Amino acid sequence: MNLVSKRYGPAEGISGGAARPFTGMAAVAMYHSVSPYERDPYLVTVTPERFERQMHWLHRRGLSGVSVSDLLAACREGAGRGLIGLTFDDGYADFIEYALPVLNRYGFGGTVFPIAGLLGGQNDWDVLGPRKPLMTADQLRRAADAGFEIGSHGLRHASLRRMPGADLIAEAEQSRAILTETIDREISGFCYPYGHLDEAAVAAVQRAGYSYGCAIWRSPSTGPLALPRVYVGDADGSVRLWAKGARHWLTWDYRGPGASRMGRLVGTGPATSQDAPLADGIQQLTQSKYS
Ligand SMILES: [Zn+2]
Repeated sequence: MNLVSKRYGPAEGISGGAARPFTGMAAVAMYHSVSPYERDPYLVTVTPERFERQMHWLHRRGLSGVSVSDLLAACREGAGRGLIGLTFDDGYADFIEYALPVLNRYGFGGTVFPIAGLLGGQNDWDVLGPRKPLMTADQLRRAADAGFEIGSHGLRHASLRRMPGADLIAEAEQSRAILTETIDREISGFCYPYGHLDEAAVAAVQRAGYSYGCAIWRSPSTGPLALPRVYVGDADGSVRLWAKGARHWLTWDYRGPGASRMGRLVGTGPATSQDAPLADGIQQLTQSKYS
């Protein structure tokens, strides 16, 4: 892929300065299930139609969805412009049926984070349901063979916050070993269940050999081992999706083309607090007039 030819920034038609090296942290979008649904109490499902529109919207703006590994590698080389990380937590089996064909059509990549101890199982941790099947080992191999990155979401979908050391090691190391053996490829990324982490969890993830970690909110641990992500839901139409992306860029002190207009759109200047949770911004956006 010729990364250099990608457009700069999150939106088309915005005036701005001359192109310059991408210095901010690029956005990583967080998906879970892509499937038709009737009930979705945890707001983890996006319909296939909505997902198609969201990918089309990114494509039209010259943005490309990529795996987190590819995104980080591109950013390290100053070639992150126009790239957005696409992540799929929990490894729902519906990824194969509904997300993968759409991603293939646009030439997009992405990272799937299955739970190593629950392959072929279901989302029992979401007590209100509805139950959704998780990818089997075979389906995981299919996704990997189709070019998607596989990361680890731990062994049991347990919160790592304040977890005893031996359990932490098992969640980080055993899950990596199981998935490495399952897909016969190196596992580089870890995704913290519920976005919960603390210093010990981040240290365990690093010790287990992962090169990056996906969180949700910003925290004192924010960095390559605790990357904040933007939640994308089924209610996210194009303007709101764009506003979320803008908000994300601003939290990384984005100063590139269109920064001032983005500030007006999302109703805030660049974030100054390193600890301000991104979720606050997203919550404001979900209640804003841009829906
Ligand atoms: Zn999860």
